[in-house]
Amino acid sequence: MKKNLLSDVQEKLLMGPGPSCVHPSVYEALSRPTIGHLDPDFIAIMDEIKTMLRRVLKTENNLTIPISGTGSAGMETCFVNLIEQGDAVLILTNGVFGKRMEDVAGRLGANVDAIEFAWGTPVVPEDVKKKLDARTYKIVAIVHAETSTGVLNPVAEVGTLLKGSESLYLVDSVTSLGGMDVSADEWGADVLYSGTQKCLSCPPGLSPVTFSDRAVEMLRKRKSKVPNWYLDLTLLTQYWDGAARVYHHTAPINMLYGLYQALYLILEEGPENVYARHKENHEKLISGLEELGLKMLVETSCRLPMLNSVCIPEGVNDADVRKRLLNEYRIEIGAGLGELAGKIWRIGLMGHTARPENVNRLLSMLSEIIRR
Ligand SMILES: *Cc1c(COP(=O)(O)O)cnc(C)c1O
Repeated sequence: MKKNLLSDVQEKLLMGPGPSCVHPSVYEALSRPTIGHLDPDFIAIMDEIKTMLRRVLKTENNLTIPISGTGSAGMETCFVNLIEQGDAVLILTNGVFGKRMEDVAGRLGANVDAIEFAWGTPVVPEDVKKKLDARTYKIVAIVHAETSTGVLNPVAEVGTLLKGSESLYLVDSVTSLGGMDVSADEWGADVLYSGTQKCLSCPPGLSPVTFSDRAVEMLRKRKSKVPNWYLDLTLLTQYWDGAARVYHHTAPINMLYGLYQALYLILEEGPENVYARHKENHEKLISGLEELGLKMLVETSCRLPMLNSVCIPEGVNDADVRKRLLNEYRIEIGAGLGELAGKIWRIGLMGHTARPENVNRLLSMLSEIIRR
């Protein structure tokens, strides 16, 4: 018998761009007994997950369910259910995840138009307005919290530009949900997706998605079948909604227990308290980093509380510092992605990670390493 590798897995302090630390009660939830995906006890849990999701998303949307798959599956679900060949889609890009949206929409045959803003800076609503005045789009898509740079985008302002228009507003809230206010209905978001392993502090594997009635109407009026069977919401809703509960695919039962518990924890602490905790720890981290002489990539006005991009100082070896943090101190932080690779570290304060003891631990280890 080969040695069982799982016995070597140690707990690490996850302070990168996700996954984040998992609350012990979520681990306990994951190990509850597996029951059938059509068992009435499980259906009650599904219904409660939908209700709790609506509360944290601040939406009344009937179609609000977790997709089986990580955040990218949520992204794919939103686009694949709405795009038909040649549809005009506008993507507001300022990082890796906007780029991913362009790729996903393009593969589905959309006519993709993008405005790219400098990485590390936010989307500029005036520039978006000019585009919208010149052309009509079926979908306009934006990333609320751009995890690759640490920038907060003005989703409410862009939503205001779209009010009364025919375009559907699609928002990525993978990193923001559970760490800061997400107000899907108030923003006028028609389609929104998230993920479990960022501020929801659950292991990766599910992607909450919500569709407004207007988006559902568009889906129903499609001329062609949704080109992806697994993510087809017309089929998935027959399992997640109504009396019939038609089998589609076997729900990832235990992952859904985990999501249930993660949402329960947020509602128990109070979403506003959870967001305040993220903000306080973010401020504590920034002041500590500045004391160490480190500079932030993003301006104060558009910094994300849960993802902090720090400029790597001259003469410091990026990979070496991250390796030491991980091997010697069991702390994981993130590297820069794309054009920011080697230039920044990404320090996550997501969900259960966002606690003062974690900020203190990272700051003291980081100062030790940098001083050496
Ligand atoms: C992490 C992330 C995704 C992708 O999620 P996966 O779970 O890695 O598939 C999409 N958008 C944003 C903003 C993210 O941070």
